[in-house]
Amino acid sequence: MARSLTGTKSARGFFGHPPGLATLFFTEAWERFSYYGMKAILLYFMYDRVGEGGLGLPSDTARALVAVYGAAIYLAAIGGGWVTDRVLGTVRSTLYGGVLIMCGHLCLALPAGAGALYLSMVFIVLGTGLLKPSISTSVGQLYPDGDERRDSGFTIYYTGISAGALLAPLVVGTLGENYDYHLGFGVAAVGMAVGLVVFARGRGRLGERGTRPENPLRWREVPAARRRWSVAIGVALCAAVAAAALTGTLTADLVIDAISVLAIALPVGYFTVMLRSPRTTAAERTRVLAYLPLFLAAVCFWIIQEQGATVLAEHAQESTDLGAFGFTIPASWFQSVGSLVLILIAPAFAVLWVRLARRERQPSTAAKFSFGLVVAGLSYALLVIPSLGGEPTHPLWLVGSFALVTVGEVCLSPIGMSATTRLAPAAFATQTMGLWIASSAAGQGISAQIVGWYSRETAPQYFGTIGLAAVAVGLLLLVAAKVYRPLRDTSATPSG
Ligand code: GLN
Repeated sequence: MARSLTGTKSARGFFGHPPGLATLFFTEAWERFSYYGMKAILLYFMYDRVGEGGLGLPSDTARALVAVYGAAIYLAAIGGGWVTDRVLGTVRSTLYGGVLIMCGHLCLALPAGAGALYLSMVFIVLGTGLLKPSISTSVGQLYPDGDERRDSGFTIYYTGISAGALLAPLVVGTLGENYDYHLGFGVAAVGMAVGLVVFARGRGRLGERGTRPENPLRWREVPAARRRWSVAIGVALCAAVAAAALTGTLTADLVIDAISVLAIALPVGYFTVMLRSPRTTAAERTRVLAYLPLFLAAVCFWIIQEQGATVLAEHAQESTDLGAFGFTIPASWFQSVGSLVLILIAPAFAVLWVRLARRERQPSTAAKFSFGLVVAGLSYALLVIPSLGGEPTHPLWLVGSFALVTVGEVCLSPIGMSATTRLAPAAFATQTMGLWIASSAAGQGISAQIVGWYSRETAPQYFGTIGLAAVAVGLLLLVAAKVYRPLRDTSATPSG
């Protein structure tokens, strides 16, 4: 019998973790493969000329659409979490979400023009909104309360995310760019299909908990007036969006600003609902309040991390000496640096957390977050040095910056997911995970508003200011954890 890393629990499973972790690891790796594969060629497909196999959209519209699409996908996780907690349960949400995602990629696999693209976006927003929070909640459901392997389990799971993210641009990107975009999207659909098969075969290992909603919706018991209001508001919203689209009022700029506002307003609204709900117990309310500073720190972290695909992508192409190694490095390769570094270092962190826990020296959740945010800030501060010296800068500076922010990501993102499963009120389990995922939508929504300050001339001030601000917020979190006891307690599994 294999012993667990902790030596305390028998676990013939996946690196000393429950066997269900393998199912979730590979399902999510394939889902992320399909997602990041599609994203690797989506922009080029949108603005490439029609004769070259693209849609011939103006490139600024394409860029804005891709950015807003990314935020919408992560925002949808809040709605998907609600459907999971109240109607479907995590297992069915993951399955149905995966099928929707696959349909989305299939739409793009057919050479059917812009209509197919927009239909595909609807499928993928809805599908990812259902799947992403559910599958992450399922990871937490593998561990009983008090199991110190939880952070480590999420770190292993996150390696699966990165494996999919690393492979996707290489396979889907190469096929899509060199042969045919639709072939690339078709391979993304096959990836999601493989993920679905893995999940369908392995779902028996996930236990009973995910087969039912945590807090079933009893629509008939909802007071009639509230039922009528909900339907009326839903219909009015759909009608407003449809009218705006039909009359041409729905411009890309309006959509970008609307999603930026929603990305901030929705989490604020959700925290308020959770704190005021009669289904949240007093102990749970204290935990939600303590979760709030962690959430804000995460938003700050994603403001920097998500700029890897915008500001740093541009910095790579415009201000970096891509010929430094004797051949021209494709600027897009920098997008894989983070995933590669994560895969290399995450296993060490997974072991480290369990070892430290065994010696009762595991850093608190707030300390891990604080470290993650400080390191992310330093990844930006680092870029001030070469930017001051004139252009073009050596590519290793950028590699170093991506590597640093990834060290921060290992300490913050999987730990945040783990903390979310520990601290969420029971009735809101998957919705809180949706909220966690929406922290990166909020980060992207905010960064959509600040990336305009970056230019080749302002680069040193831009990196310096944002970097130091992140370091300051990270240190503030550490101080907050010293003075605010519930925040310090977020590392412990609650007993009540
Ligand atoms: N980048 C990670 C992923 O794709 C985490 C995203 C998030 O938590 N919002 O899974």
